[in-house]
Amino acid sequence: MRRAHSAFWPPPSLLLSLVIAVVISTTVSSPLSGECVLCRQCGADVSDGVHIVNQFSPSALVRGNQSLFGARDVQVQVLENPLGVRFRVVTFTKASCGPGHTWHNEHSWFPGYIWRHCLCPRCGHHLGWIFIPQSMVSLKTLYALSLDNILGEQFSDSLMVVPKAYQS
Ligand SMILES: [Zn+2]
Repeated sequence: MRRAHSAFWPPPSLLLSLVIAVVISTTVSSPLSGECVLCRQCGADVSDGVHIVNQFSPSALVRGNQSLFGARDVQVQVLENPLGVRFRVVTFTKASCGPGHTWHNEHSWFPGYIWRHCLCPRCGHHLGWIFIPQSMVSLKTLYALSLDNILGEQFSDSLMVVPKAYQS
């Protein structure tokens, strides 16, 4: 005997639409609540995961996506400076940088941008680079921070150790 479809079971076409809707909603709604991004040297709050923007650099040697700083599908790029030093970089639209040195237009990882170092506003440690548009007004300021020089607030909290005297 052929088993009849339950009256409550959606037809296959509707089921497919539901599956597609769920997949779209989980891949498109990337930035979540965000997470504070801290200077790895002194713990100063220098940015937030909500400011992450995936800006491609044509100079990237490697690209990959990770979940970082409370955001999904964050693009991590490996970029190399003229001295051959490689950095794992994430790009942000906003970050706190202390007073920097002069702007450079040579060896820019992002065409149309000039750059200078982004230093921690509290301790002066090197965090990454600020890129501003050279002339095109359609471009927006970009902050490329090195993953070796920053860390997420939640990771930092996980490193906190409660002294034995305070443990119950
Ligand atoms: Zn610092």
